[in-house]
Amino acid sequence: MTALPRVASLTALPLVVSLVVLACAAAASAQPSPGRQAADLIVTNGYLVTMNGAKDIVENGAVVITGGRIVAVGPAALAAQYSAAKTIDARGAIVMPGMINTHTHVSMTVFRGLGDDVPDRLRKLIFPLEKALVDRELVYWGGLHGMLEMVEGGVTTFVDMYYFEDEVARAAKAIGMRAVLGETIVDFAAPDAPEPYGGIDYARKFIAQYRGDPLITPAFAPHAPYSLDTDHLRQIAKEAEALDVPILMHVSEMPDEIARFRKERNQTPVEYLDDIGFLSRRLLAAHCIFVTDSDIALLKVRDVGVAHAMVANIKSAKGVSPALKMFKEGVRVGLATDGPMSGNTIDIVGQLGYVAKVHKLDTKDRNVMPAIDVVEMATRGGARALHMEDRLGSLEAGKLADVIVIDRDSPRMIPFYDVYSALVYAAHPGDVRTTIINGRVVMEDRKVTTVPADDVKGRMRGIGDRIRTAVAKGIQ
Ligand SMILES: [Zn+2]
Repeated sequence: MTALPRVASLTALPLVVSLVVLACAAAASAQPSPGRQAADLIVTNGYLVTMNGAKDIVENGAVVITGGRIVAVGPAALAAQYSAAKTIDARGAIVMPGMINTHTHVSMTVFRGLGDDVPDRLRKLIFPLEKALVDRELVYWGGLHGMLEMVEGGVTTFVDMYYFEDEVARAAKAIGMRAVLGETIVDFAAPDAPEPYGGIDYARKFIAQYRGDPLITPAFAPHAPYSLDTDHLRQIAKEAEALDVPILMHVSEMPDEIARFRKERNQTPVEYLDDIGFLSRRLLAAHCIFVTDSDIALLKVRDVGVAHAMVANIKSAKGVSPALKMFKEGVRVGLATDGPMSGNTIDIVGQLGYVAKVHKLDTKDRNVMPAIDVVEMATRGGARALHMEDRLGSLEAGKLADVIVIDRDSPRMIPFYDVYSALVYAAHPGDVRTTIINGRVVMEDRKVTTVPADDVKGRMRGIGDRIRTAVAKGIQ
């Protein structure tokens, strides 16, 4: 019974796309030719998914990059107006803004695959392992290894909270990734801070070190509403405001977190955070699984960003965040993987299908969370969650040059009718061919250019051996 309207809407789609392309071409040809201007890099002949406000598609387009920024986007003919030091031919491929991973703990790649499918592993396994083993070397190499995976999967910006966050920053600079990085603050001794709340001082130094960096945005990362007391949360909110930096935190993630705030304060964690003046545009709240309708209204009015980590949340069997409702109501929702122990992979392409399909299942409605909205959350939505939409998230002149090229050659990407459907329901992170961050080609034709990938993987194997030995000796 539903076949007819679906076929009708499919056949209507190419018409819409070609009208958009014509509109773009007409606009470009009306411009006077400025002669051949110098540019650093041109990505041309690609199928451009701009993710701009109108969601323009350019079937055969070019992106021109100079000084780390996009200077022009339009039909491929545009490339003739520029003389570039390097040109990437994206014929037959999708060109789109880089994906944004709004919440992870990248260095935890070292622990990936340990203690899966067992209950309460956070307290029984992860915390003891971190206490015994986490040091600068582990954080740097574990981080760099995870970043390899993200670059190979088309992630150009990631948000991280862990310990020794200056080592994560050093690794991000080495590989050339953009990142928002927060030193974790907890009310117990941490691997890099023997005193409870020692993370605050560590964070202050880290923020001073990386303030103004072109790739790194330093942040405070209080672990969760239940693992810091009210006074320290207030202090962090005040300092973040004074220093003009973001705050990263897990919010409404744990069933016992919800039960505790209900019992102790008769509030939700979000209501509590609002009460103490903690909800603001500075906050990027990860998970938000158990938020109520009134919590969602608070998150919207306080302009809080939300990191939606679907795969991690369903793997842990905690529940499905009402991200669909939040997105519809205009909350700033981006996509996230959480740490590599939680969702096991940390690319965003691998999240897309789950986000679409689980929300459909959750609401028993196949029409909700269409592919185009999922791609928006992975790009522009992530930028909005970070309050960086003026700089990131779309292919538009003036934005930072974070651009990826995705192949359409694999059998799963053929035939090619609807790019959003192809990206969400068929693409694999291994289809990402080239990753450009801040105008720099960090991966070209599947080869990472900035760090020796084999060496990084070798280091990870060595750390893996060390951890395997520690676990065998009963460190947990
Ligand atoms: Zn997390």
